[in-house]
Amino acid sequence: MELWIQPCARCADLYGQPATAAPHDDLTLNGVGAVKDARAEEHYTCVRCGGVFARILAGPPMRQNWMLLNAGQH
Ligand SMILES: [Zn+2]
Repeated sequence: MELWIQPCARCADLYGQPATAAPHDDLTLNGVGAVKDARAEEHYTCVRCGGVFARILAGPPMRQNWMLLNAGQH
């Protein structure tokens, strides 16, 4: 994964959305098995900007959202 990518507009929009939101069209689901517990967390990579998302599907409701793992801080 590339570190500190500049998220494209669609990734910027998705970042922080609840996990119930659908992935946008440029995201591809990373291989199942790369994550310890695929029921709890899915990882996606954006083909446009290289952004890597974790879609948190379990745990405290406040944590169940889309986290961008490699975006720079502004
Ligand atoms: Zn993107």
